Amino acid sequence: MGRFSSALVLAASVTQVLGLCSHGTFLHPRAEEGGSVEVKTFGYTGEIGPLFWSALEAPTNSICSTGTRQSPIDMTAGTFNMVPASDVEVNIPDFTEGTEFENLGTTVEVVAKPGGTLKIGGKTFELQQFHFHLPSEHLDNGTSRAMEMHMVWQSAEQEIAVIGTYIDVAREGETAPVVAAPVAAPVAEPAPANVTAPVLAEPAPAAKSRFRRKSRMQAREEAAAAPPATLAPTAAPANGPSTLLETVFSLVGQIATPGTVTKTPALVLSEFVDLWRAGSFQGYSGSLTTPPCSEGVHWLVSTQTLRIMPSTFERVRDVIGYNARYTQNAPGKQNVLQLGAERSLGLAAAAPPAAAPPAAEPAATSAAEPAATAPAAEPVAA
Ligand SMILES: [Zn+2]
Repeated sequence: MGRFSSALVLAASVTQVLGLCSHGTFLHPRAEEGGSVEVKTFGYTGEIGPLFWSALEAPTNSICSTGTRQSPIDMTAGTFNMVPASDVEVNIPDFTEGTEFENLGTTVEVVAKPGGTLKIGGKTFELQQFHFHLPSEHLDNGTSRAMEMHMVWQSAEQEIAVIGTYIDVAREGETAPVVAAPVAAPVAEPAPANVTAPVLAEPAPAAKSRFRRKSRMQAREEAAAAPPATLAPTAAPANGPSTLLETVFSLVGQIATPGTVTKTPALVLSEFVDLWRAGSFQGYSGSLTTPPCSEGVHWLVSTQTLRIMPSTFERVRDVIGYNARYTQNAPGKQNVLQLGAERSLGLAAAAPPAAAPPAAEPAATSAAEPAATAPAAEPVAA
């Protein structure tokens, strides 16, 4: 990963800040095999939240508050180009040996051990990992979705591409029969209370317990005989839950503590590839949605949606909590943090001192005041 001197400098300066979108890439090299799962130094609320990311690690993260091609965005007409699935060549081998599923504190992530390739526009990217945001980071034409999966790829030239896929919650009634067979073993065996209690009871010093934890998980998996079930054909029904996601998320209770890792059974990745091929992509040039917010990221947001069971969603929510960066301005437009600061300063200069407006008509007030200080500006997004 350190073949490029400029990347080395950057990587050296950000190793303490583990990203979501960039984890496992040159920006955030994964810890050595057998090392610990490092956890976050940034967050999503309060003074480590997205409003403060640029200040958390200046100047490394400064583009978070100054960049004009930041992600996520509201995917409305005009912000993206439709990319036919035929223009995107994706190959991901099944993870027949299983892989690692880890809690980074800021997300839960599946390590792409066998890799995979993405070819688009004459460029080739290699799969690094996929992770999850809750709720979705991109908005689907103004609408938030339950979750969003980010599959992260890196080229030999150290460019980054991300395939975003929305995840919705399936309706219990229509989906239960569909998943019953493939996930019966992993779901039924570790009832949440039984699984999380022993894991949480240990103080989980991740670095030292990694292998012991893994072997315990392996033993449990063997007992549950889960792998054969997950290798069954996975033609995902149109509105049914994803067998692959149900398999991965059935383990989320085992990594409830940041810094912990577990081993998955075999995973059939062709389910995702088939899903993407059935739709198209909304493409645009954006950024990482986590520090250091680097731009030049090739975004491909699938028009296809994955689904999970309501009970699965609740289990994942209890571990992830909340990890979505607020929506950024449309590509090419001024960073909303700069815009907000400018307008706030303008308002402060224009307003008489200590003349807080009566709170009676907030809508009318906010609509009128910007017009006086920022002519012809468009409404503030948030
Ligand atoms: Zn992400």
